[in-house]
Amino acid sequence: MRTAARDLASPPALNPGALRVTPLGGIGEIGRNMTVFEHAGKLLVVDCGVLFPEDTQPGIDVILPDFTSIEDRLDDIEAIVLTHGHEDHIGGVPYLLKQRPDIPVVGSQLTLAFLSAKLTEHNIKPVLVHVEAADRHTAGPFSLEFIAVNHSIPDGLAVVIRTPAGVVLHTGDFRMDQFPLDGRLTDLRAFGRLGEEGLDLLLVDSTNAEIPGFTISETELTPAIDQVFTTTPGRVIVSSFASHVHRIQQVLDASHARGRKVAFVGRSMVRNMRIARELGYLTVPRGLVIDYAKTRNLPPNKVTLICTGSQGEPMAALARMAGETHEVRISDGDTVLLASSLIPGNESAIYGIINKLTDLGANVVHKGNARVHVSGHASAGELVYCYNILRPRNVMPVHGEPKHLRANGALAERTGVPADNVLITRDGVVVDLVDGVARIVGQVENDLVYVDGQTVGHVTEDTLADRRKLSAAGVLTVLAFLRPGTAELAEPLEYLHRGSVHGQDSLDNASRAVEKALADATRNKTTAGDQLEDIIAKAVARSLARSSRREPVVIAVVLDA
Ligand SMILES: [Zn+2]
Repeated sequence: MRTAARDLASPPALNPGALRVTPLGGIGEIGRNMTVFEHAGKLLVVDCGVLFPEDTQPGIDVILPDFTSIEDRLDDIEAIVLTHGHEDHIGGVPYLLKQRPDIPVVGSQLTLAFLSAKLTEHNIKPVLVHVEAADRHTAGPFSLEFIAVNHSIPDGLAVVIRTPAGVVLHTGDFRMDQFPLDGRLTDLRAFGRLGEEGLDLLLVDSTNAEIPGFTISETELTPAIDQVFTTTPGRVIVSSFASHVHRIQQVLDASHARGRKVAFVGRSMVRNMRIARELGYLTVPRGLVIDYAKTRNLPPNKVTLICTGSQGEPMAALARMAGETHEVRISDGDTVLLASSLIPGNESAIYGIINKLTDLGANVVHKGNARVHVSGHASAGELVYCYNILRPRNVMPVHGEPKHLRANGALAERTGVPADNVLITRDGVVVDLVDGVARIVGQVENDLVYVDGQTVGHVTEDTLADRRKLSAAGVLTVLAFLRPGTAELAEPLEYLHRGSVHGQDSLDNASRAVEKALADATRNKTTAGDQLEDIIAKAVARSLARSSRREPVVIAVVLDA
């Protein structure tokens, strides 16, 4: 394996005839997937998703890929190709289209429908190009072919990118379910043809590369899901991703078989299921789905509710039910079915919700105690099959944390891909494909771009450090009344607390530290207000850290007495 060095220089000018590949997200993290391909002066973007924040990023809505390296070249973008409709692949599109709304967006029917609903909320009218598996499409110098792949959302596509520089396959997210609910298999015959043609570079999903064997089929969940519907005396409340159409189909079928009516709860769930139903991805027997309000008149054992929140998102319906702030009140006899995986980083939020729901009387069924979830990603066994079928000359694992990428790279090597041709990169690392050889050639700027309400990119790592400090130790404001034109205190310091607690001793120590610092300032003839504020804040912060081991955010305000 070749691993990108820590600090790489900017890449050199692109060799004419070569293909440049720059991942701007999704490498080193699970989310905000985005890859930029460049050839003959033109760009092609594959996916543009969001990453969801962790506890250490308070107040952040989503995290975007860093568009800095393409901001001057927006007019060179021939198209955005979307592999499937998950948020971590389409969620960033509105933010890119805000910068240039007429970039054509290429994708399958369901993917474009989910995207359109999202763009309507952002008031963007996109230029959409609808393609299906086996279709071909030309975007500038990029000749594209689409291949059906099976994943935890219908209508997934892998994309073949042909240029004079060679043939590239980007798998997107995929698995190889041999008995998918909709009968749409990952098209291994197309993979085989590509292997025969000669594949120069494979970008391949790494999410489950560490998991041995094969991801089981979606259909193998049916018995455990049916069991829940047969044995629950009250309501069944199912929490799932709002895009997991196949899982929701299973829940609809099980409900129908047991004479339960179903209501969708939560805006994104209602919206997506309407789209999936209208486009024929969801089959709903007449009269099965009703409004939530109507379920209140039915006996509990005749009711199924389907809502969002399986990842412990604080504002999603399930979290509010657990916190008793939702109109759906959990009671004895209800079963809550968490029909999803745990995204790394969300575990403690979800366990908290499971405990609260249990306290309220619900029986909670989840992947830890029943077979009610399978992953949407290929495990090691499936990946090895792909390598042997595709026989790629160069491999670049994508979609995963560093450990997933390395595990995937090791699989590629075991199937005979030369170690020098397996590239372990990270966001912003640039790979050039020249004469059938892929090499790491540099890196471009790549930061986490935070969306906070209406602002994009204004929140920095420093802001987050402040927020973490605020949540851990609060804020302490120091008012200093000084004799005009001097650094001499006219009155004792005043302290205002918010979420921060200090003993009188600590504050006395802090005041003495400030007096000393101001005496130094007087000697140095420092009288500017902002400089004195800085000096006072630092003296207080240092003193508190020493005397009480507390590090609140300290704000000093200097006023003329
Ligand atoms: Zn996905």
